Amino acid sequence: MSEQHQNLAIIGHVDHGKSTLVGRLLYETGSVPEHVIEQHREEAEEKGKGGFEFAYVMDNLAEERERGVTIDIAHQEFSTDEYDFTIVDCPGHRDFVKNMITGASQADNAVLVVAADDGVAPQTQEHVFLARTLGIDELIIGINKMDVVDYEESTYNEVVEEVNQLLKQVQFNTDDASFIPISAFEGDNIAEESDNTPWYDGEILLEALNDLPEPEPPTDAPLRLPIQDVYTISGIGTVPVGRIETGVMNTGDDVSFQPSDVGGEVKTIEMHHEEVPKAEPGDNVGFNVRGIGKDDIRRGDVCGPADEPPSVADTFQAQIVVMQHPSVITAGYTPVFHAHTAQVACTIESIDKKMDPSSGEVAEENPDFIQSGDAAVVTIRPQKPLSIEPSSEIPELGSFAIRDMGQTIAAGKVLDVNEK
Ligand code: GDP
Repeated sequence: MSEQHQNLAIIGHVDHGKSTLVGRLLYETGSVPEHVIEQHREEAEEKGKGGFEFAYVMDNLAEERERGVTIDIAHQEFSTDEYDFTIVDCPGHRDFVKNMITGASQADNAVLVVAADDGVAPQTQEHVFLARTLGIDELIIGINKMDVVDYEESTYNEVVEEVNQLLKQVQFNTDDASFIPISAFEGDNIAEESDNTPWYDGEILLEALNDLPEPEPPTDAPLRLPIQDVYTISGIGTVPVGRIETGVMNTGDDVSFQPSDVGGEVKTIEMHHEEVPKAEPGDNVGFNVRGIGKDDIRRGDVCGPADEPPSVADTFQAQIVVMQHPSVITAGYTPVFHAHTAQVACTIESIDKKMDPSSGEVAEENPDFIQSGDAAVVTIRPQKPLSIEPSSEIPELGSFAIRDMGQTIAAGKVLDVNEK
């Protein structure tokens, strides 16, 4: 095992090969025991299916996806020489974009999967935009399914050019992006240099992952644990579950849930079906708090220390980037904001400044409207209590996406929170 830890997001358009790539990475890095693969291969052959070596991994991923509601939200892990990677996303999950918002804000780096036979597709754009807005450092772009295009160099170059255009469009620094022709299915340029792409002499995927920059050290922010679900478990009582974003939770700690504004002492913490005395950032936990009933708290609450409780915004100021809106956004617009596990309708009360996205300079004070492609500073009033934090203080709780009509309209970062 390596010392350094990295959270990695795997992003890209549906069917471009994200799950297959995750399976391939787990397989190639030996994250699945050989005997298990062997057994599965035999089974597949018996059933006349012909064995894909990593079919077992793929089946498992599918199963985990189905189980999306269980207490330990499955996070796939694999290691290279340099890093222990956790995949902070569930490819193919029904709430993919919403996961991106929480996932990408925690991911240090990302792999963008683009199918060579399809090129840049709508979700490619959406995910790259979100990755850029939510602060992904480096992007490794796997041009996948090279086997489908006969490993043609010219096709590869065309798709690379298309992706480069997209990166420019969202102002992602192309120096922080590297391209690799791969086949997740066949295993080309993943763990070994492929004979099928003699024209390519860059890094293979595992090398590129190994060479990613070290993640920013964790902040010393107080405990913040957005509540994902609240269960009643016999013998224990009310069990809120969620993932610790920042800080540490110990049994015996006095905690507060906001905006529900209740609290108590942590009696037990459970992780991977075992009781633990303490949990840290990245841990998915279920816990029990003295005196808290099922109806006292809900999804979207944030748990924090009683003496440093999560902020509840009366209004907040944020920098947003509008990705796609059919017309214009004016003051009074009230779409749904997705922040950590919360979904709350919020009104854009005022549009304070329009920014030049390339320079970051103010382009216009108090503009009448903003539209697709614009970056702006806006003041937002949640229609129901919402716990959110300034991105400069707790970045993990400081970003959000704005959704309307089933699409991500904009994404943003919180600059300032005005509490009640
Ligand atoms: P996701 O929706 O992005 O997670 O895509 P999947 O991993 O589920 O892949 C979608 C389909 O493409 C599946 O049928 C895969 O078997 C296939 N696929 C994925 N990667 C490759 C590849 O490199 N080559 C070929 N030929 N097919 C692939």
